Amino acid sequence: METLKLNNGVEIPSIGLGVWKMDDATLAYKAIRFALDLGYRHIDTAMIYKNEEVVGKAIKDSGIAREEIFLTTKLWNDDQRSGKVTEAINASLKRLNTEYVDLYLVHWPVKETYISVWEKMEKVYQDGKTKAIGVSNYQPYHLDELLQKTEIVPSVNQIECYPYLSQEAVITYCKGKGIHPEAWGPLGAGKTDILTNPIMQGIAKNHNKSTAQVALRWNLQRGVIIIPKSVHENRLSENFSIADFSLTAEEMKQINRLDKNMRLGPHPDNFDF
Ligand code: NDP
Repeated sequence: METLKLNNGVEIPSIGLGVWKMDDATLAYKAIRFALDLGYRHIDTAMIYKNEEVVGKAIKDSGIAREEIFLTTKLWNDDQRSGKVTEAINASLKRLNTEYVDLYLVHWPVKETYISVWEKMEKVYQDGKTKAIGVSNYQPYHLDELLQKTEIVPSVNQIECYPYLSQEAVITYCKGKGIHPEAWGPLGAGKTDILTNPIMQGIAKNHNKSTAQVALRWNLQRGVIIIPKSVHENRLSENFSIADFSLTAEEMKQINRLDKNMRLGPHPDNFDF
């Protein structure tokens, strides 16, 4: 499993399992156990996904040592507004049945509080409750302000990113500041035709791979961490089997040209939760 080094030296597996919308506890448990058996060593959850307990149980029952698994969870917006960051991570740790997480992310940039919240994130990091801290859905201007006013540079910025939303500017900005880009919705979240796009299909055929594998490989080759979600065993295997082929420079360019700035989730300047 390929890992990348974050700006504080912590290693992160470049492919993780996203668990948003794994609402059914039995299905979620089965999918996570299956993924861990396959070799996934990185799980991306959040308080708001309401499945931290299942994630914790699946990890424990897998018998895999805790330190071999990279576990991410996130600080929800209500806990930012109330300023209860330590309380929120403590509650997540309890649900996850673990002493620490590997990455704690501020889930969305809540306008009024994102600077004061980051100072509290620095504290939970210094207290050893998480091995790294980062943000999600931050635009360069949020990060500019954070870098000016606070001490610790975020390790990760997790953003919506798939071929119709390439996020080139945000990714270039993040890389320039030592902030690792991570893609949520890397398959288009099942909401677009990206997986049946003819260009994607042509490239997939060249490599005898699926369009999902091509979409994931494209982000990986740009140095972007990916966290695809699936509850199906065949898809979990497929999404994890992308180390044995490479897209050519021309194929990368063809996929880059599919960008149409098409968001499937809310804009970070315009969310209402
Ligand atoms: P993804 O792009 O990972 O797409 C998931 C969808 O694609 C599901 O419907 C899944 O269906 C389907 N799918 C999975 N694999 C394949 C495949 N090989 N072929 C065809 N279809 C496939 O979307 P997500 O929104 O789940 O994003 C991934 C993760 O990112 C989330 O689970 C979450 O952890 C994180 N996230 C973070 C956000 C943030 O604000 N920070 C926001 C949204 C997500 P099925 O399960 O039925 O197989």
